Amino acid sequence: MLTQRHPQHRAAFLEAFLSGLVELIYPAICLSCRKKLPPDTLRRRVCPQCWNGIKKCVPPFCRRCGRQLDSRAPGKNICPECVRTQLHFDRAFSACRYEGVAKDLIHQFKYGQKHYLGETLGRLMVEHALTYHLPFEVIDGVVPVPLHKAKLREREFNQAEVLGAFVAREFEKPVIADALVRRRPTRTQAELSGRERFANVRESFAVADSGDVRGKNLLLVDDVLTTGATSSEAALALKKSGAGIVFVLTLAN
Ligand SMILES: [Zn+2]
Ligand SMILES: [Zn+2]
Repeated sequence: MLTQRHPQHRAAFLEAFLSGLVELIYPAICLSCRKKLPPDTLRRRVCPQCWNGIKKCVPPFCRRCGRQLDSRAPGKNICPECVRTQLHFDRAFSACRYEGVAKDLIHQFKYGQKHYLGETLGRLMVEHALTYHLPFEVIDGVVPVPLHKAKLREREFNQAEVLGAFVAREFEKPVIADALVRRRPTRTQAELSGRERFANVRESFAVADSGDVRGKNLLLVDDVLTTGATSSEAALALKKSGAGIVFVLTLAN
């Protein structure tokens, strides 16, 4: 048989066979618009059109929460929310706006058990961190924002942990996975107003072993930053246990 005599043919055959198998297991359609995916986007699972439709966060940024500032108001480097509210982290960075394709993908990742989207979405965070010079050289470890154990049981995985692991691997930093714990269940932040969100998470985080974080500069990782209430409370718990600088990196805001 031809395929047995010519290894290159056999390799090509095998590759076609395997990619056929992959297509069977993971239908090759865009996760957002459901159109057929071009072959070079199979791994990402999002077609070029949807991918380019993701609204990336671009400068000017608020120097505290990382939200995009109105470029028509020059000279300001802090947003109105951060003037009113004290956030306990030093600076947050978010890769894109929480809307459209990004919002859809985050929902599928979080609630649709699509763990594999962690790599696609994690890459957006890494690109943002590199483009806008998140100072990784000072970071000693990556801390994913934990879920309460009841919520973890319900969802089966912590999306922040998947994203945190990806970011940590790319920047060759250790993950301090169990640094933080949720002391009590909290209501879903999305159901609450801005002020309620801060009350909802107040003192809801604790550091399991302060030896894990004392004297360390940390990067807190979560999927979405809205008011910053959750990240701020988590950062406060870390700082009370002796952490140094606490930066926050999220996928969207
Ligand atoms: Zn698409
Ligand atoms: Zn701000």
